[in-house]
Amino acid sequence: MSKTYDLVVIGGGPAGYVAAIRAAQLGLSVACIDKWINHDGQSAFGGTCLNAGCIPSKALLESSELYHRAQHEFAAHGIGTGKVKLDLAEMQKRKTTISQQLTGGIAGLFKSNGVEGLPGMGQVRGQGEVAYTPNGKSKAEILKCDKILIASGSEPVELPMARFDGKYIVDSWGALEFDKVPKRVGVIGAGVIGIELGSVWSRLGSEVILLEAQDNFLAGIADAQIAKDALRQFRKQNLDIRLGARVMAAEVKGAGVDVKFSVNGEEATERFDRLIVAVGRRPYTEGLCQSEGAIELDEKGFVAVNSEYRTSMPDVYAVGDVIGGLMLAHKGSEEGVAVAEIIAGHKAKVNYDVIPSVIYTSPEVAWVGKTEESLKAAGTAYKVGSFPFAANGRAKALEMPVGQVKMLACAETDRILGVHMVGPYVSELLAEMVLAMEYGATSEDIALTMHAHPTLSESVHEAALSVDGRAIHAINRKRK
Ligand code: FAD
Ligand code: NAD
Repeated sequence: MSKTYDLVVIGGGPAGYVAAIRAAQLGLSVACIDKWINHDGQSAFGGTCLNAGCIPSKALLESSELYHRAQHEFAAHGIGTGKVKLDLAEMQKRKTTISQQLTGGIAGLFKSNGVEGLPGMGQVRGQGEVAYTPNGKSKAEILKCDKILIASGSEPVELPMARFDGKYIVDSWGALEFDKVPKRVGVIGAGVIGIELGSVWSRLGSEVILLEAQDNFLAGIADAQIAKDALRQFRKQNLDIRLGARVMAAEVKGAGVDVKFSVNGEEATERFDRLIVAVGRRPYTEGLCQSEGAIELDEKGFVAVNSEYRTSMPDVYAVGDVIGGLMLAHKGSEEGVAVAEIIAGHKAKVNYDVIPSVIYTSPEVAWVGKTEESLKAAGTAYKVGSFPFAANGRAKALEMPVGQVKMLACAETDRILGVHMVGPYVSELLAEMVLAMEYGATSEDIALTMHAHPTLSESVHEAALSVDGRAIHAINRKRK
């Protein structure tokens, strides 16, 4: 007899596993199916984020940053180290251990919340019916359920002229697994992944060249002024970022890749030991439904949903990367919680106007809300305040006095509309601004809030003061 559940979740990434846990907390009987298999052959929950994305990349970013600082910064503190040695195998082992601890943690959370974790392939057979094929088996069993949630995530976009071969031309997962530091690394795409993984290998000793199609750095994602500031910092770190690049061909020859491209009409060829292709991700829906077309997709292949995350098939919902919007773990998790509440009969809503974004480089780039460009385009009258980390005592003590905080507030109501930062640990400073915007705070609310001295957060305070031309530790812009 087939097993019966209130809810079957297909996909155990940050969207799916969080939804499964919340639904179980709300009293539903839940199974979560995930087919992920790691390079060691082990099944694991956690999806892209824990196995091949957020977590392993941040582990390597931290290790490579320490290696870099030990070589290039300790002397300024009066610390001599002798020659700093790199043990890449140990660094990679630490990264894998962290991922395993966290994915193992999900299995533990499933157990304690009563979620049945099912490693294997899930397929929607029809309303209330999911076929589950355990990893390593070929025969499917049928699970019956009231509701189905699709959280199947996304996969890297492949370029026709630079197909992944798993060794020389790799996607982001491959780029996290190099067992030697390549002498020369090419990266197609200077977006979030390109910059983060380019930074990792550059800090560990590779010469890194990034080929970015757009003429402007982080165009359409980050505030242009902050992106410009970040670009200057990254270029200073020897990241060779070439904007307006058109890649024509990538050919594996011997133990390397020849990449033919043009910048401003000028053709060039570079030879790399490894080529990382990081040109975005696309929804993953392969094999999700027995009959193709049973669930409506939008023109870009994302699962189409309404405001309650319902798909075109009755009682089938979808959340996370597979429905589009910002492809971020926390956005997927918030949707996961919301959809679990909705399925359990409650009301829930995600605030898409206040989604934090972070690039975990050094300096970090972080933002929330509207950019100056989007406010201009919408014709919204706004005020700007900013403050440089060069004037922040803590940033100086940290040997990281670079970047700035920029705050945008409504000219009429003073309500904060967006905050954009590049600088030390701004990922952590961002949380205060996300909370402020959730509460509908004004720049004056932040200006009137006491911030501890000496902390990096004083730069946020000063940026808020500067919105009304009253920053204390910087020269204020002249007001009309
Ligand atoms: P996923 O995490 O992709 O999970 C989907 C799961 O569904 C997978 O485990 C897959 O195996 C499973 N699945 C798919 N189809 C089936 C099926 N038919 N049957 C069974 N299982 C199935 N985001 C951040 O917020 N912060 C970061 O720092 C960050 N860093 C990143 C770094 C890299 C290198 C990459 C690639 C991504 C990063 N992201 C980051 C993005 C983040 O990983 C994704 O936004 C997030 O994982 C999406 O969650 P999800 O649950 O929607 O999908
Ligand atoms: P992205 O969209 O951030 O960047 C892709 C870049 O590639 C863009 O700048 C684009 O202009 C460029 N590009 C596209 N086609 C190109 C071509 N043919 N030649 C040269 N350049 C080309 O995508 P990504 O960096 O692949 O990341 C994928 C997703 O993962 C993003 O949505 C991101 O939000 C998420 N992610 C988030 C984090 C984080 O939160 N810190 C980290 C990594 C990834």
